[in-house]
Parts: sequence; C-alpha cells; structure tokens
Amino acid sequence: MLGEGIIKGMAETARNFLGSYVNDDRLTTVQYPEERLPQIENARQFPFLVFDGSDPMAGLRCVGCQICEKECPPKCIYIVKSKDKRLDYKGQLQLYPATFDIDLSVCMSCQICVEVCPFEAIKMDTEFELSTTDRFGGLLVNKHQLAKPNDHYRKIHPTEAAVSDAAMVAEVAKAQAKADAEAKAKAAAEVKAKAVAVTPVAPQPLAAT
Ligand code: SF4
Ligand code: SF4
Repeated sequence: MLGEGIIKGMAETARNFLGSYVNDDRLTTVQYPEERLPQIENARQFPFLVFDGSDPMAGLRCVGCQICEKECPPKCIYIVKSKDKRLDYKGQLQLYPATFDIDLSVCMSCQICVEVCPFEAIKMDTEFELSTTDRFGGLLVNKHQLAKPNDHYRKIHPTEAAVSDAAMVAEVAKAQAKADAEAKAKAAAEVKAKAVAVTPVAPQPLAAT
C-alpha cells in the first residue's frame, strides 16, 4: 500500500513518544552532554593514524606512500614524504610522513583512505566532540594530533582490529621468512665461494720439447 512505510514509522514514533511517559525503555534520546549513548562498533567519524609502541612519532605505521592523499575524494589529506628512511615494524627501511595533515572541516568520513592504505596505518575514529570556534585552523589537524595507539583502535573497533592485528602478524612472519631465506642463500653462496677458493689446481703436464 502506498505510504504504508510512513504510517508504520509514524506509529512507532507515537508509540515511543507516549510510551516514554510510563516506560524508560521507550526513551530513544538522552540528556546529552550529561548522558551519552555507548558508541556502536561500526560508528565512524574522522581518520586517525595508528602507531605501535610507546613513541607516537617513531611508531607511526604510515610510510608516506600518499595513496590515501591521491584517493581522498575531497582532497583533504596533505602529505610530505621524509627525506630519510627509518625501520618499520617489519624491520625494513621505509620513508615516513614528514607532514601529514587532514582538514577535518572538509573530510566527509567516507573511509576511502582506510580502505586503500596497504599498511594498516590509518583507521576511522569514533571521536565526534570536535567543535571549535576556529573554523579553519582548529579543524586542520597534524600528525601529532592524528597519532593514536593501536590499543585505541582495539578498544573502539575490536572486531576490525583483530583482523588488522592478524594481518600485521602474517606480514611480519612473511618478512621474517624472506629475510631468513635470503640469509641462508647468502651463507650457502659464501661457503661455495670459499670452497672454490681453496680447491687445489691440478698440476698441468709439461709440454714435449
Ligand atoms: S596512511 Fe597509508 S596510504 Fe596514507 S600515506 Fe600513510 S601508508 Fe600510505
Ligand atoms: S575519510 Fe574520506 S574524506 Fe576523510 S580523509 Fe579519508 S578519504 Fe578523505
């Protein structure tokens, strides 16, 4: 029937409105900010940068590859790559972001930056109380403000974080296996080279005069 959905919705609203006078369970709103509803796991607001360990800047997973910057639809991410490299969580030398800014006044919370990041380095936060009187400067956040520990990610999105952690463990194991195989091959090559170097040269027969 045409309009059936609207009628059902209005009936539910009326039931909650009238029912809220006699039953607290019918109250669908809270007295914010004194009261707050718990965040649901799939809630998302703006991105943050994940770091491991206790030093936010040293532990940033971001390698400044700029994929998220290129893919961000409203172009609100600004990255400058470092000139030097440092060891990442896999023990490999990587660049890092010398600058990583996000203009939250432009961000539309689409999560595309998270989807395209190959390093589990950027995730969506649930923080929403970001109101400020400084429309531009107050919402332009840098890497120091964006950096949050992996434990924060585990707390706000436990299911997603477990998958991410497993992927990181697998990546580290893969990198370690590759490094071990390379070290083994190098050692075998050195042994072979030494064996060739010490092999006595067979004496050559004298030429007939
Ligand atoms: S957050 Fe991810 S995609 Fe963006 S620059 Fe850093 S590593 Fe690359
Ligand atoms: S959530 Fe979307 S709009 Fe916001 S920084 Fe990421 S890609 Fe850009």
